[in-house]
Amino acid sequence: MSTSTPQPALLPVATGRRAARVVAAHLRRSPGQSALTILLAVAAAGAGLIAPAVLGRLVDAVPDGGSVWPFVAALAGAAVLVAVLTGLSTLLISRLGETVLARLREAVVDRALHLPSATLDRVRGGDLLARVGDDVAEVAESVTTGLPQVIGAGLTVLLTVAGLGVLDGRLALAGIAVVPLYLLALRWYLPLSAPLYAAERVAMGERSQALVSSVQGVDTVRAYADEPRHRAVVTDRSARALELGLRVFRLYSDFGWRMNRAEYVGLAAVLGVGAWLVRDGAVTVGAVTTAALLFHRLFGPLGLLLFTFDDVQSAGASLVRLVGVADLPAADPPTRVPSPARPALELRGVSHRYEDGPLVLDDVDLVLAPGERVALVGASGAGKTTLAGVLAGSLTPTAGTVLVDGRGVDDLRALVGLVSQEVHVFAGTLAEDLRLARPGATDAEVAAALDAVGAHWVAALADGTGTVVGEGGHELTAPQAQQVALARLVLADPPVAVLDEATAEAGSAGARDLEEAATAATAGRTTLVVAHRLTQAARADRVVVLAAGRVVEQGTHAELVAAGGRYARLWAAWTARG
Ligand code: ADP
Ligand code: MG
Repeated sequence: MSTSTPQPALLPVATGRRAARVVAAHLRRSPGQSALTILLAVAAAGAGLIAPAVLGRLVDAVPDGGSVWPFVAALAGAAVLVAVLTGLSTLLISRLGETVLARLREAVVDRALHLPSATLDRVRGGDLLARVGDDVAEVAESVTTGLPQVIGAGLTVLLTVAGLGVLDGRLALAGIAVVPLYLLALRWYLPLSAPLYAAERVAMGERSQALVSSVQGVDTVRAYADEPRHRAVVTDRSARALELGLRVFRLYSDFGWRMNRAEYVGLAAVLGVGAWLVRDGAVTVGAVTTAALLFHRLFGPLGLLLFTFDDVQSAGASLVRLVGVADLPAADPPTRVPSPARPALELRGVSHRYEDGPLVLDDVDLVLAPGERVALVGASGAGKTTLAGVLAGSLTPTAGTVLVDGRGVDDLRALVGLVSQEVHVFAGTLAEDLRLARPGATDAEVAAALDAVGAHWVAALADGTGTVVGEGGHELTAPQAQQVALARLVLADPPVAVLDEATAEAGSAGARDLEEAATAATAGRTTLVVAHRLTQAARADRVVVLAAGRVVEQGTHAELVAAGGRYARLWAAWTARG
């Protein structure tokens, strides 16, 4: 069952046919493994036919004075064979399923990493996360548990029907004529069962909730002498859960009864037609026995197919959502263009609004000279992060352009390294995280980058750059994570740097280290730094003040302090904080 909350369907969903084709393509990438898996699954289902066949022979042979023992041995052998083949094929099917799922997951994550920024802006955190998380989990669960059962049951049904056909067409027809009855029972059951199961689950949840809250609040309950009312609530909910449970049970047995009826009507038909054929000498008693046993074997797998139907359906729903993402067109990879060591950057008439929101940037003109270090300051919500995103090419502005040395470029991201306000350190080792910035970087280069930003704490860790960080690993402090991001910047060595400084407390040792690190990491690059600590601004070549999406002041720190405007007031407040 899917537990994902409904998400706005912003990302496309593939058709079932497309999903099947993608899965088939993944299977073809491992032809040997796929062939072996199919072979074993068929062999396992086929081995199930041995016992009915042997029993049929036994019925024919023993009255003629044959020995029972060879048959007993054959039956025992068949039982072992079925067990071994079924175990192996279950293993191989889940293996193969997981191989395909791993490839699909890779494709989804890969595509998620390369989505055009415009798409990413709209879906980040919502739909995409649900697909990478819930949908993958949903498919994974079905791959390891449901899939082998469904494939096994499906093949058993197919092979059993085929076996009946080979035995005698007329016997097969007599049995299969009952299938419509079975389908009728199914049509009756399916629409009734789903809501009842759901209601039962809700009632069970409410019952435990009533129990837990009574126990947790036992002091309060006693203080108000409220025991009788709480007792009544618990009793009431237990009764409701029990009643629904009984209804599910009744429905289930009713269904089982209808299925049995279908089965026995079919069995009667097989035996009746069989008796008639035996009388005419067309088939032996043994053949009829085999047919009856085969026919009987049909119903277990049919029932299983029915009961895993829901799971298969929801796994299918997740699969088409995954393929939908994997099939999205990727953004063109950033083209590394030969660029001047320190380009000039210009924002010309840049405005931006998110969706239908208000203007967050309002006709901003801003020039960064080659190698210049510009500090951007302003109140929270002024648009600093948005401006940084536009300059770094991770956000396409609603209007206006960004020029590099006076020309437009295809992809700013090739030129600009961005360190965001909130750094995400990926689960894995520190070295792996850093190599995101430069995949081929040597250990020495990784260590040098960390040194350059003063991250000496890494060397003090037992595993050094091999330390596992992120989810479930070593917890980095916020300043440490920022340092790691700055080290990535050093490794990537872009000619332009955009830093969105984290809001660090004034005067803290971590913040001061970070300031050093930022200065070191951006040395020699054309740099824009969003400065929350005004000591950063004081060191910059120029300060730009943003208010409500407009540039309201700019100049050197000294000029702006002397001018006595908005920046001067900010500076006075900052220094007063100490
Ligand atoms: P700053 O970094 O100066 O605090 P931001 O650029 O983060 O300012 O935000 C400017 C305005 O845009 C704020 O009002 C903020 O709520 C809004 N905003 C920022 N990001 C988004 C977004 N992804 N979607 C909608 N509104 C946003
Ligand atoms: Mg911000």
